[in-house]
Amino acid sequence: MSITLDLSRASAPVKAPVNLSGLTREGLRNALVEANICPPEKAKMRASQVWRWIHHYGVTDFALMSDIGKETRAALAEAFTLARPEIVERQVSKDGTRKYLIRTAPGIEVEAVYIPDVGRAGALCVSSQVGCTLNCTFCHTGTQKLVRNLTTAEIVAQVQVARDDLDEWPSPKEDRRLSNIVFMGMGEPLYNLDHVADAIDIISDNEGIALSRRRITVSTSGVVPQLHALGERTAAMLAISLHATNDALRDVLVPLNKKYPLDQLMAGIRAYPGLANTRRVTFEYVMLKGVNDSPDEARALVKLIEGIPSKVNLIPFNPWPGTDYECSDWKTIERFAAILNKAGYASPIRTPRGRDILAACGQLKSESEKQRASARIKAERAERDVDDSAAA
Ligand code: SAH
Ligand code: SF4
Repeated sequence: MSITLDLSRASAPVKAPVNLSGLTREGLRNALVEANICPPEKAKMRASQVWRWIHHYGVTDFALMSDIGKETRAALAEAFTLARPEIVERQVSKDGTRKYLIRTAPGIEVEAVYIPDVGRAGALCVSSQVGCTLNCTFCHTGTQKLVRNLTTAEIVAQVQVARDDLDEWPSPKEDRRLSNIVFMGMGEPLYNLDHVADAIDIISDNEGIALSRRRITVSTSGVVPQLHALGERTAAMLAISLHATNDALRDVLVPLNKKYPLDQLMAGIRAYPGLANTRRVTFEYVMLKGVNDSPDEARALVKLIEGIPSKVNLIPFNPWPGTDYECSDWKTIERFAAILNKAGYASPIRTPRGRDILAACGQLKSESEKQRASARIKAERAERDVDDSAAA
């Protein structure tokens, strides 16, 4: 499916019709009233009908809403849209991982990755921003400047596109391939919390996609002031990109640490609403050779997270063109995991998935940006080399 751009209108922009897929229930009710589709007293009922068609049956054509009168359907089609964004590229890995490059607007490309056999059935890794402002030094997305926050509709669209591809409209809960959502794609979700929270409301609604909030995980690099609001507003599972056990190293790997150092971060996590043994926080720890992978660091990690209901996810570093980091040796990762296990922490080593299609964690980046960023890194390096030799 593709959206055709009418460039003749470019000079006199007309307001694009609102995509109803990106509205919460309340937003949908208001939109229907404002567009004179129904009077306020009928809005709840009408919105429920429309909601089921959009989020349970996945329709993209108002004409298919068979229990809604013809005239109302025509009025809906006149005022709104349900169109999916364009899928620029769909890649399927040898291991079944599927990567979608989705163009939601001119110049706005997002990636989403479906990974089978993760969570209850399979997980979709979704993006919350195009690019990222945070520049973690080991992350490919971090080399791409922030283009902008994604809208609620653009976040929900990633789930819809995956469900289209997996043929899951409608699907009984027991028999679905997409059971979990992780906000581990491009961007920092807590810098776009309003849209992320609305998207979670939409995809977890019981009369729609009905994904359990316990199967929705939001990963953050540690935006401490937003942690509480995330828990209160979404009841989503929390994942923290930790990667280091002391401020000196974390300042380098995750520069946001300079703003919210480890003591503040750990206090924020301990106060996360709903944290319990049945609702653990996941600490993500990327394994970087010779940087953060020693047995001493494993022991420091145990100490740091003591008393927090948690598990540790060890992520083998996924290299990308231009990076100086390397992935720790397998033996080193296993030794690290063994120390955590011995201390009572589940510490699964994340199997890299979709490597052949560059779909692994931290590798997401709009195609168009990849070459530009690699060229930029090379140029910066050349400049540094020149400076170094000048200084010598
Ligand atoms: N911005 C959020 C979510 C997106 S990143 C965050 O940082 O948590 C999702 C996960 O991938 C994070 O844990 C991140 O640290 C990790 N990651 C980034 N680049 C990686 C790489 N090259 N190899 C392995 N993991 C990486
Ligand atoms: Fe942004 Fe997360 Fe990558 Fe850091 S790891 S640059 S916060 S996407």
